Amino acid sequence: MYVLKFGGSSVANATAISGVLDIVEGVAREDRVILVCSAISGCTDSLISGDKKALESIRRRHLDIISRLFTGEDRADAAAEFFSLFDRMTKAPAAEAPAFGEVFSTRILARKLSCEGYSTAWADSRELVVKGDEARTTDNIRAFLKANAAAQMVVAPGFIARGADGKVCTLGRGGSDYSAAIFAAAAKAFSFQIWTDVPGIMTCNPKIVPTATTISKLSYDSALKMAEHGAKVLYAPTIAPALAAGIEINIRDTFQPSDPGTVIGNAPGPDVCAWTGVSNLPSENGNQRVFLSFEGPAAPDAVIARISACLKAAGIAPLQTGTEKDGLVWAEVRDAVLTQACRAIHREFFEIQAAKTLDLYIAGNGAVGNALRKLVESGAARKSGRHIRIAEISSSRDFAQRVLQTAPRHSVFADCTDSEDIHAFYVPLLEAGINIVSSNRRSLAVPFVEYAAMKQAALQSGCFFRYSTTVGTALPVLESILAGAMAGDEPESIEAVVSCTLNRILSEHESHTGDSFATLLRKAQEEGLTEKDPRFDLGGEDALKKLLILAREAGIPLEREDVKVIPAFSQRLFDCSLDEFYKMVESREQDLAGVEADLQAKGFRQRFIASVRKDSGSPGGFVAEIKLVPVPSDSPFYRITGTENVIEIRRKFTAPMVIRGAGEGAGVAACGVLNDILK
Ligand code: ASP
Ligand code: MG
Repeated sequence: MYVLKFGGSSVANATAISGVLDIVEGVAREDRVILVCSAISGCTDSLISGDKKALESIRRRHLDIISRLFTGEDRADAAAEFFSLFDRMTKAPAAEAPAFGEVFSTRILARKLSCEGYSTAWADSRELVVKGDEARTTDNIRAFLKANAAAQMVVAPGFIARGADGKVCTLGRGGSDYSAAIFAAAAKAFSFQIWTDVPGIMTCNPKIVPTATTISKLSYDSALKMAEHGAKVLYAPTIAPALAAGIEINIRDTFQPSDPGTVIGNAPGPDVCAWTGVSNLPSENGNQRVFLSFEGPAAPDAVIARISACLKAAGIAPLQTGTEKDGLVWAEVRDAVLTQACRAIHREFFEIQAAKTLDLYIAGNGAVGNALRKLVESGAARKSGRHIRIAEISSSRDFAQRVLQTAPRHSVFADCTDSEDIHAFYVPLLEAGINIVSSNRRSLAVPFVEYAAMKQAALQSGCFFRYSTTVGTALPVLESILAGAMAGDEPESIEAVVSCTLNRILSEHESHTGDSFATLLRKAQEEGLTEKDPRFDLGGEDALKKLLILAREAGIPLEREDVKVIPAFSQRLFDCSLDEFYKMVESREQDLAGVEADLQAKGFRQRFIASVRKDSGSPGGFVAEIKLVPVPSDSPFYRITGTENVIEIRRKFTAPMVIRGAGEGAGVAACGVLNDILK
C-alpha cells in the first residue's frame, strides 16, 4: 500500500492537481494507494476568518478547478455536489466550518479519479479518525480498507477528525501530514510520501539562506528536533506514528517530481557526526533563537563556541546561547539580524565545511603516508585555497573501521597502505559520505565486480574516489584514459612499461656498467625498490595489477585470468630459495648477455611490457599480455632509464599518446595523492 499526502499548494489549482494525478497514477500501477489531501492553499485560513470576500474567492477557485478538470455531466455533478457542501459549510457553526476545506478538495479528487476509471473510495476522516484514540482510529481505518478492498484508490481528507465526544474537530494547523501518518501506520504502508512545494527538508529555510540544500537522509529524531524548532516542512506530530510503525517518510516536491527529496528513517549511526540543519523560532522576549541541530557525538560546548565565533566574525553579538537537548544548540539574536545570523551559521557549518576544510585520515604510516603528512603540514595545499586538516595518521589494522564510525561526512580517507584487505572498507566508507583517495593498487586490482561496486558506491554517494597514483604514480595516465573514454574515444590499445624494477635492470645492464644481472637485481632489492622477494616483480605480479587498473579505466572488464603473463625467468627459478635463485641467475649471466647482444646487433632492446588491445577476434574482445618484448630503436620504450614509466595509448580518432616520466618514489606518490585530494 502506498500512502501519498498532498499539501495545499499541490492542489491549489487545476494545473497543480494534474501534476498530482500524474504522480498518483504512476504509483497506482504498482499497488493500491491511499491519497490524503489538504484543503486548497489559503482555504483553511479563509474558512477560519469567515470573511465574506475571502469565502467568495474560495468558492470561485473550487468552481474554476471543477470546470477545468471535468466536462459534460461530470462537471455538472461535481459542481452540484460542491454547491451543496458549500451551503452546508455556511450554515455550520463557526467552529465546524474550517473542517470543510479538506472535504471540498478530496471530494473533487475522488470524483476525478473515478472519472479516470479507477475504482475509488472516499474515506470520511470525520468518522474514522478519533482524536487522541489511536487504537480505535487504527481499527476504523483497517475496517474501512477491508470493506473497500476492491477500491484501488482511497481518498481521505487530512486535518479533520472527530473527538471522543463525537463532535467534528481538527488535528491542528498543518495537521494533514499527521492524518497521513495515521493512515500509513494503520495500513502498514510500505511507502509513505509527503508531497509538498519544496524539494524536501532543507539545511535552512531557503528564503532566508539561498544556499540551503536538501537533506537527503535524516533520522526520525533529527527531523523531530528540526520540526519542533522552526523548520516548517513537516508537522512535528507526524513523526511519532511513522516511527512507531517503522515506516520511512519521504518528503517530495510535487513540482519537481523526479527529485528524490528527503527520506526520514533510521538514519546515520550514532557514531557519525553530521550537522543537519539551521532553523529559528521567535523567543519569548521578542528576539529570535537560531537552532543548529546535529547527529552524533559532537560536544555541545565546542559547537556553541564555534557558533559564537562565527557570529562574532559576522559582526553579531549573540545575546545568549544554550543547549536544548541532545544534538540541538541555539544562539539568541535580535530580530533585525536574524537573516545574517542564519547565513553566518549556515556558512560555517554547511558551506565552508563542505567546500574548504577537508579532514584527512591517512591510513598507512609508511613512506607514502609520511611523505603525504609532511607535504600537507608544509602547507602545500595552500595555493588551492583549501584547508586540509590531518585528523589522524595510523597504521593500525582497525583504523578504517574507526574512520567509518567517527569521521564526519565529506572527510577524505587516504589509503597509503599496501594492505590486501583494506578495500573491504571502501564501499561502506563511500556510503557513509567519506571520500577515498588510494595509492594502494592492491585495493583496485580486486575482481571486477568488486571494483565496479566501489565505482558505483562513489557515484551514488557523490563522493570522490581517486587512485591515479596506482599506475604511473604522479603521471596523468588514468585521467588521460578516462577523459578519452568519457568523450567516446576509448583506447584501442594500451602498452605500458610500468613495472620498473626489471626495466631498470635491463637498461642498466645494457649500459655495460660491468655488473651482472644478479648483482643489479640485488642492488635494487637492497635499495628497497623491489618486494622483499624480488621475484614478485620479475614474475609480473605488479605489472598485472597495473594492467587491470589501466584496462578497466578504459572500459575493459579485465580479470587476472584474462592476462597471459610470461615471466622473465623460467618457473624453476621461482621454485627455490632466494639464495639459490641468485646463484642460478648469476650462472645464466652469459646467456642473458648473449640474448641482449644479439638483439642489440639488430637495433633492438628487451622491455618487459604490459599490454591490452581490443581484438574482435578473441573471446573477450581483447588481448592482454605481459611479457618481454624486443622493441626497435624508434619505439617510445627503447630509451627508458632508471625508474621511468612509459605508457602509450592508441585511440580510434586521435593520434597515439605517449606519457613518460618518473614513475616511482614515495615523494612522487605523495604529491599524486595530494593532487587527487585537491582535484
Ligand atoms: N488545511 C490545514 C491547514 O492549512 C491542514 C493542512 O494543510 O495540513 O492547516
Ligand atoms: Mg498545509
